Amino acid sequence: MIPYGRQDIREEDIDAVVSVLKSDFLTQGPMVPAFENRVASHVGSKFAVAVNSATSALHIACLALDLQKGDVLWTTPITFVASANCALYCGAAIDFVDINPKTYNISVEKLEEKLIFAQSRGILPKILVAVHLCGEPCEMEKISALSKKYGFKIIEDASHAIGGKYKNSFIGSNHYSDITVFSFHPVKIITTAEGGMALTNNALLDQRLRLLRSHGITRDEASMTHQPDGPWYYQQIELGYNYRMTELQAALGLSQMDRLDLYVQTRHQLAKRYQDLLRDLPLSAQQLDPESYSGLHLYVIRLDKNAIKNTHLEVFNDLRASGIGVNLHYIPVHLQPYYKKLGFTPNSYPEAEKYYSEAISIPLYYGMSESQQDQVVQAISKAVGA
Ligand SMILES: *Cc1c(COP(=O)(O)O)cnc(C)c1O
Repeated sequence: MIPYGRQDIREEDIDAVVSVLKSDFLTQGPMVPAFENRVASHVGSKFAVAVNSATSALHIACLALDLQKGDVLWTTPITFVASANCALYCGAAIDFVDINPKTYNISVEKLEEKLIFAQSRGILPKILVAVHLCGEPCEMEKISALSKKYGFKIIEDASHAIGGKYKNSFIGSNHYSDITVFSFHPVKIITTAEGGMALTNNALLDQRLRLLRSHGITRDEASMTHQPDGPWYYQQIELGYNYRMTELQAALGLSQMDRLDLYVQTRHQLAKRYQDLLRDLPLSAQQLDPESYSGLHLYVIRLDKNAIKNTHLEVFNDLRASGIGVNLHYIPVHLQPYYKKLGFTPNSYPEAEKYYSEAISIPLYYGMSESQQDQVVQAISKAVGA
């Protein structure tokens, strides 16, 4: 089976992890800050807080921005459930904005319409989670202008987008947002096995993220209510969690960072090749902004169902039967049973649901050969009856 994505682990990654195992610190040593500094300086962000997953990063990002009961967070229905669940963890409500059918990202037009309506009802969102689907950046300039006009905060869920650029700045530089989140799950662009990071340019947010990552505990005298009782002393000043990343994970991430640019470049070469090879088939691909540089975590095709005899499900099954590990990113979040119980109903976000009935993620990863890619293209041609 040719998988839709996979990690690239080399001897130098293994050596980096083994040397941590032989060192004094398995957690809370020098590797985590080194990894944080490396990512922050690469993407041009002042601060970076490494955690045990992007899901944790999203949770503490919401808490750092004071999301709570009575507040609302908005995001897109075409994302992994974690982009929405973070609101519910904080006791806040969730709502969705439909997608742009060409970019598959949140529609800025629909966002503005919904903001105008929400303002008239006095129910404006506190936070918008902008998801860079497949690594393609959302229209951040416009979203940022709307955030100033309507007074909401922005978290970029850049789980797919490390190494990508929005116009001239790296994703993670937070030029148009408060906090950006990366994921280092093995299917993502670089991996720490499990892991994530929250980046910000705001020193107060950085402080809160660090507190929330580790039980809400501080050892900083200036943050305490009184002088330390002694050298052992710490204070818990917030309700935090244990969301820390281990030294083993950070060492792996640091080693993987050496190849981040190579990984994203290779994904672009493969994507360009797909674009040429799939050109005449009855399907379309994500529209990429020529002024930006996608992280290209995923390559999604949308079937032109009017031109194809087989159903979406038949095409999908046919590809799997041909040994192509296709997948579907994503099932619209509002159609999940848990979200239906919250009151969401089908047909609320028609573009998202149409996307779901046509989309297939095809294999794209560093190390994929041209002959594997040709095999994928052949299988797709056959499945769509071309
Ligand atoms: C993978 C992913 C997450 C969650 O990442 P974890 O590190 O597995 O917690 C969140 N949002 C999006 C869009 C993702 O793809």
